[in-house]
Amino acid sequence: LKITGLEKIYRTEDIETMALNRLSMEVKEGEFVAIMGPSGCGKSTLLNIIGLLDDPDAGSFQFNSIEVAHFNERKRADLRKRNIGFVFQSFNLIDELTVYENVELPLLYLGIPATERKQRVEEVLEKVQIMHRKNHFPQQLSGGQQQRCAVARAVVNKPKLILADEPTGNLDSSNGNEVMQLLTELNDGGTTVVMVTHSEHDARYAHRIIRLLDGQVVMENVLS
Ligand code: ADP
Ligand code: ADP
Repeated sequence: LKITGLEKIYRTEDIETMALNRLSMEVKEGEFVAIMGPSGCGKSTLLNIIGLLDDPDAGSFQFNSIEVAHFNERKRADLRKRNIGFVFQSFNLIDELTVYENVELPLLYLGIPATERKQRVEEVLEKVQIMHRKNHFPQQLSGGQQQRCAVARAVVNKPKLILADEPTGNLDSSNGNEVMQLLTELNDGGTTVVMVTHSEHDARYAHRIIRLLDGQVVMENVLS
């Protein structure tokens, strides 16, 4: 990811908010980066743009060496579905679908044939250790199990990039550590991870911490 001079301005009635103020940063393939900063500094706005959910007002954003800053919604969605897995603080599972069905959904969207779907869903449920829960609904799972299911859904289409927004925000420390361990394993397998977090503890799983203030990068810490 190569981001240069990114700007995002929200206009509401009479107020203009410069959420991203000529922000520049880079994330290399295979890196694990944590983004930190106080509430309102632009973390969610940045993650939405990196995740191709929203577009910037100015600046350049290269994804895999492709300039995507001016992509329309259809082109963004196409790139997003094939390349990016999302993990949210609130899990965002569909309550009416079982664990298995939740994880299968991204593969249905991509039109993957049934036999391959089954094989890939089962492989990833084994990996996050909730195979024994595949026919349960999200509400029947503990928070940690729900987040492991959400991670399974995020990675079932083998994305190059995982975007995690406060992935342990609703978990106790033991379940939180399990989810961080899982993200680390996926990163060890070559997947790039970009995570927004308020937790200095979680940030230490990353290779690098990028700190934002008022829509700009103000500090970077390289970890071991
Ligand atoms: P963070 O995730 O770091 O808390 P955000 O990216 O959510 O920060 O917000 C950055 C700034 O943009 C804040 O001042 C916020 O109030 C403003 N903002 C975010 N989304 C909107 C929106 N949809 N409309 C207006 N202002 C917004
Ligand atoms: P936590 O400590 O994370 O809050 P819970 O007390 O919610 O965990 O759950 C403990 C165990 O009971 C978990 O393995 C969970 O899957 C199981 N469980 C919780 N609620 C239900 C339910 N309604 N049906 C089936 N299993 C459940």
